[in-house]
Amino acid sequence: MADTPTKMPMVPLRGLVVFPDMALHFDIGRPSSMAAVEHCLMEGETVFLTAQKDAQEENPDFGDVHPVGTVARVKQVLKLPGDSMRVLVEGIERGRLVAMDDTQSYLTAEVEVESEEVTRPSDLIRQEAYVRNIATLFERYVILGGRVPAETLFAISEIESPGRFADTIAANVVTEVDEKQQVLNCISPLERLETVMRLLSREIERLEIDKEIAQSVRQQLDRSQREYFLREQIKAIQQQLGEADENGDDAEQLRARIEAAPLPDEARETALKELRRMDKISPSSPEYDVVRTYLENILDLPWGEYTEDNLDLANARQVLDSEHTGLKKVKDRIIEFLAVRKLKSDSRGPILCLAGPPGVGKTSIARSVAHALGKEFARMSLGGVRDEAEIRGHRRTYIGAIPGRIVTSIQRAGKMNPVFLLDEIDKMASDFRGDPASAMLEVLDPEINSTFRDHYLDIPFDLSGVMFITTANDVSAIPAPLHDRMEIIELDSYTDVEKLAIAREHLLGKQEKEHGIAPGIVEIGDDVIMDIIHHYTAESGVRSLERELAAVMRKAAARIVEKGEEKIVVTRSGLRDFLGAPKSTEKNQLQQDTVGVVNGLAWTAVGGTTLCVEVSVMPGKGNLELTGQLGDVMKESAKTAISVVRGMSEQLAFPPDMNEKTDLHIHVPEGAIPKDGPSAGVTMVTAVASALTKRPVRHDIAMTGEITLTGRVLKIGGIKEKALAALRAGIHTVLLPRENRSDLEELPESVRDQIEFVFVDSAQDVLERALVPEEAAA
Ligand code: ADP
Repeated sequence: MADTPTKMPMVPLRGLVVFPDMALHFDIGRPSSMAAVEHCLMEGETVFLTAQKDAQEENPDFGDVHPVGTVARVKQVLKLPGDSMRVLVEGIERGRLVAMDDTQSYLTAEVEVESEEVTRPSDLIRQEAYVRNIATLFERYVILGGRVPAETLFAISEIESPGRFADTIAANVVTEVDEKQQVLNCISPLERLETVMRLLSREIERLEIDKEIAQSVRQQLDRSQREYFLREQIKAIQQQLGEADENGDDAEQLRARIEAAPLPDEARETALKELRRMDKISPSSPEYDVVRTYLENILDLPWGEYTEDNLDLANARQVLDSEHTGLKKVKDRIIEFLAVRKLKSDSRGPILCLAGPPGVGKTSIARSVAHALGKEFARMSLGGVRDEAEIRGHRRTYIGAIPGRIVTSIQRAGKMNPVFLLDEIDKMASDFRGDPASAMLEVLDPEINSTFRDHYLDIPFDLSGVMFITTANDVSAIPAPLHDRMEIIELDSYTDVEKLAIAREHLLGKQEKEHGIAPGIVEIGDDVIMDIIHHYTAESGVRSLERELAAVMRKAAARIVEKGEEKIVVTRSGLRDFLGAPKSTEKNQLQQDTVGVVNGLAWTAVGGTTLCVEVSVMPGKGNLELTGQLGDVMKESAKTAISVVRGMSEQLAFPPDMNEKTDLHIHVPEGAIPKDGPSAGVTMVTAVASALTKRPVRHDIAMTGEITLTGRVLKIGGIKEKALAALRAGIHTVLLPRENRSDLEELPESVRDQIEFVFVDSAQDVLERALVPEEAAA
């Protein structure tokens, strides 16, 4: 219900809404507004206040302000420094702007005053409901933390007019200017209550969301604070218990170690990067340990720690001699190697490969090299290694990854330049898990091993100071690229005499010491040691011999302690008491001259051995059967042997068509051992001839030699090993190709003395010596 318009000065408000019955302070700066206020204050006139639609507008026009505003009284004016003033106004009632005039020093508004409407009786119930609802909501608003001055709370409860109630709530609760204006626009109290209720609900919602957010932030803070306190408590407990404060100090200790270690740049950077990562991980997470273990692995490497080589050759020779009997060739080569090193310090030289049967001292001479040079010793067996990761480690992305064995061996050696023995390099296998041989190439190649990269460490590691020595039983089984980089030094089987000397000079003393027996208490003669060699061992090296001597010492120790004996003499007849029944395994299996069975001699990776060839004939159609895991070359030499024998049918007096009516079966026993090579040629000839002529073969001879189709006997290798094998089998006559005659010079005298070597040129020579003469056989 509007009255006739009244004229009054007007002040457009920016970002502000004034409600009736409410007092409010605000600052004004525009000259026209100040003039209006001053005029009203002096004349006691009312002022019309209405909000600008756009607060930025400097000179608002009729359309730029909200039509509904408030008629107010100016209560106070305070001049502020600068050209502005603070006014206190009090709203009286709503007014609607009908016209505006800007011709004077201030704006003049023509206002229709909107007196407060009285609610129709039919709407009273709704109005009451609104009031109640708003009151409840308002309470909730205050509980949720909406900021309302205490006096307002009190004032609100006193208000009786529903319209004013709505206005007061809106003035205190609603924050947005537009929303306040919405309330002001409502002339009807009912409509106003409804709007306020809607806006109040919205405010409550906002508060609730705010509260939720605040709560979750607080929870997070709480949790981390809790953890912090718990960790502090653990630290305190650990300190009380005298335990090292691991977690806290972990990172610091590692950092100090990283800084102190002479790491190469890349390694240091990587280590520090990992350390930073570790700092961010909770110590209880498994990842923390992974990183820590990694850093410890890096720091456990002997960065920058080198031993100085002792290149005094006289000393080296003395060490090698004192630790090993014989092995002259090997020792000489090692001394040469050291001499070159001395003359040319940067020379790396080839990689030495000690090749020979087991137990001949390959490992222990390598250890002596380390002693002689004053270096540390590291060792890794490559036998059966098929996974590249064993050499080079697993990448850290694998769970449970560890560094490869090259790196761990060096860690253990504790120096960057040890003597590193790579045992059994001929026994590496390769399969789907990668090719260990190519990883070994990277280890051994002096061009690239200064930046060897273990998969686990993933930083370059310098292996160029390491002196690698390899060992192999069978040189031919070493992968070719590796073979090319090595210089092979052969170690042969020992003769009985050598074994005896080794036992006397080293093994006995070593075993005495190991069993705590003072020298001189156990007396054991050379003849007794020879008996042990002959009847208790059958080997190329001295491993079993050492084991048997250990057994003697064990028994002796028992007797010293149990029976208080002070002197123990081991005699040949008493040897059984110490070692039990003789277990000579490699004896001549042929006890008598037999048809179709011949002693051959063969070379294998574990040294020389006797190799029986058996032939049987039976009625048939000229078929040939070959058994005993023979290699291709050996199969061919079997066929050649048959042809040779057939060619000799006249001399040997068997019908030429005989082998068309007979089947031949050639068997080489001990089928589990693969056999190959041409050197069994003469043996095959003898066995076939014997089988066809039924003349027995002398069991006390052994033979070796390749055969040609025309029956010539060709040179073969491994004479020393084969001669020693014959002796071990108790055979003292050996047929050898004549071309091998010069090789005998290499043989130790003790062997030459014990064997009668018979040199043969042809199959005929062989048969003459090997077959029992017809008269005697008859
Ligand atoms: P390999 O490595 O060739 O299989 P080892 O080095 O293990 O052989 O030798 C076996 C044992 O025999 C070791 O105790 C070693 O000291 C000893 N040994 C071998 N040859 C000799 C030797 N010539 N002088 C002294 N001891 C030896």
